[in-house]
Amino acid sequence: TPLLALRGVAKAYRGDAAAFALEVPEFDLLAGEALALAGPSGSGKSTLLMMLALASPPDDGEYVFAGSDVAGLWRKGRRDALAALRARKIGVVPQTGGLLPYLTVAGNIALTQRIAGCADPARVLGLAEELGISAQLRKRPAALSVGQRQRVAIARALAHRPALVLADEPTASVHPELADAVLALLKRECAAAGAALLVATHDPDRAARAGYPVLACETHAPGADGLARSVFARA
Ligand code: ADP
Ligand code: ADP
Repeated sequence: TPLLALRGVAKAYRGDAAAFALEVPEFDLLAGEALALAGPSGSGKSTLLMMLALASPPDDGEYVFAGSDVAGLWRKGRRDALAALRARKIGVVPQTGGLLPYLTVAGNIALTQRIAGCADPARVLGLAEELGISAQLRKRPAALSVGQRQRVAIARALAHRPALVLADEPTASVHPELADAVLALLKRECAAAGAALLVATHDPDRAARAGYPVLACETHAPGADGLARSVFARA
């Protein structure tokens, strides 16, 4: 059985000026699998990742994640259960920043463990070593380079042994020369940790260079209903 399965999922935004609908007729991701979601800016990648991160509900359809009926939990208003599932099973690598400035690097990496209730200092140390930031553990994020901070964010996303790691344009803030390396590192670390990985990117070539299979979205200009549509589908 896949780690996550979406069927007939839809989510729409209706503003005064513009309206947008995301459609995911069928999408599966296996445990430990890595995939890049590609689409231009505004194609709904963040909308999809927010839904997969259990941060926003689908309007319609079924979403099963790690054996839990996510769409059902949303329908029943079970925010407690959704938050617990997110804390234990999901790691997020933000676009940029996202580290707490008043915590040390070690404290930042250990944060996901604290939230999930699974302290594991040895894992903090091991991840820091693999990611080449051992010498930074006692420093504050402000003392680090942008590339080092992004490696801290990767370590933090994996520290609590999540089943799924989500990254929305994780190289947006790093130098183009570093971006390929960060993407490759992210993929390698998730594979080593046995975590599935979904990376949203507007640059499918970069993702492919870093060794990711790429799923491109299908975009449709607004029709008579004024609704721009974006479809992510993979059987
Ligand atoms: P991407 O991550 O691919 O750039 P997004 O998911 O951020 O795409 O946005 C998809 C579309 O939905 C865009 O047209 C955006 O303006 C719109 N959108 C995103 N979030 C909201 C929101 N909270 N309210 C209204 N419209 C939104
Ligand atoms: P604070 O900012 O509260 O002083 P610390 O950085 O001292 O926090 O530690 C936060 C958590 O990070 C600790 O509970 C421990 O699990 C982990 N940790 C701290 N230092 C190290 C280290 N050198 N190696 C591995 N893990 C560490």
